[in-house]
Amino acid sequence: MPTSPRGRATAAGGERFAVLDPATGEAFDEAPARRPEELDTVVERAHEAWRGWRSDSLARSKALLTAADAVEAAGADLAPLLTREQGKPLAESYAEVARTAARLRYFAELVPRPRPRKIMDGRPVRSEVRWRPLGPTAAIVPWNFPLQLASAKFAPALAAGNTMVLKPSPFTPLATRLLGSVVAGALPEDVLTVVTGHEPLGARLASHPGIRHVTFTGSVATGRAVAEGAAASLARVTLELGGNDAAVLLDDVDVERIAERLFWAAFRNCGQVCVAVKRVYAPARLYSRVVEALAQHARAVVVGAGLDPGSQLGPVNNAAQLARVERCVDQAVSAGARAVTGGHRLDRPGYFFAPTILADVPPAGTVVTEEQFGPVLPVLPYGSLDEAVEAANGTGFGLGGSVWGTDLDRAEAVADRLECGTAWINHHAELSLAQPFAGIKDSGVGVAGGPWGLYGNLRPFVVHRPGAA
Ligand code: NAD
Repeated sequence: MPTSPRGRATAAGGERFAVLDPATGEAFDEAPARRPEELDTVVERAHEAWRGWRSDSLARSKALLTAADAVEAAGADLAPLLTREQGKPLAESYAEVARTAARLRYFAELVPRPRPRKIMDGRPVRSEVRWRPLGPTAAIVPWNFPLQLASAKFAPALAAGNTMVLKPSPFTPLATRLLGSVVAGALPEDVLTVVTGHEPLGARLASHPGIRHVTFTGSVATGRAVAEGAAASLARVTLELGGNDAAVLLDDVDVERIAERLFWAAFRNCGQVCVAVKRVYAPARLYSRVVEALAQHARAVVVGAGLDPGSQLGPVNNAAQLARVERCVDQAVSAGARAVTGGHRLDRPGYFFAPTILADVPPAGTVVTEEQFGPVLPVLPYGSLDEAVEAANGTGFGLGGSVWGTDLDRAEAVADRLECGTAWINHHAELSLAQPFAGIKDSGVGVAGGPWGLYGNLRPFVVHRPGAA
């Protein structure tokens, strides 16, 4: 029978499901298929483990630092496995492992914070705010950055003194399972449990009455379902959802200088990044130069299996996502858009799509109004800056955005008008572990990252007594 990270039996009956390699479209391994009913025991154990875990902050900090070292030491096992099931080039998988370890260290150091705080309001009372963990937390994550997003959930939650049940996407269960085993090896039993399986496993976890916080990263539609599920027990909900980030190029932009950076801000991880550039707005005067400069990079990029040395862009992660990307492009082209490069699947096994730059795109097409989440970038011309800002803000999303130009003050003034959680100037999607990350509108609820991310896993507890402050 398969075993869990800490050696405990997993799926009764040993049911398993196939995991596919997106570079071939073929199964290469299996993962345990946990049944939703099994969550009762898993959550109960997470609750029992919480009693000890929440009480010793020094031990928590030490354990998270040990876990970080263990993750780093397991890099040579984690990274190739991640590439195999996710598709990304191996170097990017190693970077994901490194980021996971760095995040554990970052939050290990935040453990002693926040300190209790006295409230002074002029009255003769002593009122003190202390911070308490929430309890067993459920984390549900997608397939684009399985390790990085898992650690974005468990590092702050565990640092804050919560325990966690983590469910990865069934497209990418293996590296997360291994990561869970490596991290859990540094923690008391049942502090972190990874459960793998197909729906309704996630739905059951999100609505489980023993869960006090549901932290979810994924699509808007699933985020809504998760919030509805969590409403049954009124658990706290944190949602990091989709994005449709615009890059607005100003008329003083040095097109050739920024083209490569802009290209990779859209195409890294095959465009499967929540904060990828998903639309480019270029001044009409520079439009054809921008399109051509981006197309040159798209033509030159080496597409191949993530494990092949030299591959810069891997396959799309799964067949459904590939079909979605193809649909978005076909719809745009039939409405009059021009595929300057790409525009089609690659004629080879696996889920490969040619890097695609779309010009003359009708602004109402789904490739503009929704997130394509693939190696496809629409470029749209604009007349006035007001028009560009209005278009950039004109979708239901509000995750990130960027402004590109030579005069940085002017660029910053435009960035300030973007309706999103993070606005970058002359780059995109660079995130620091220490900064808050939060989407607005359909892009999310709650905050991750930095001390704000830690507070998202805590509740204030006030002790109020008469006497001098
Ligand atoms: P998804 O919403 O389909 O799945 C996300 C997770 O939810 C998976 O683990 C899935 O198995 C699970 N799930 C599916 N149905 C569920 C249900 N009814 N109840 C509970 N859980 C359920 O998303 P995806 O296709 O895996 O990932 C791509 C999406 O994630 C994109 O929209 C992308 O923008 C978004 N994303 C957002 C961020 C962010 O930080 N804002 C980061 C990465 C990805």
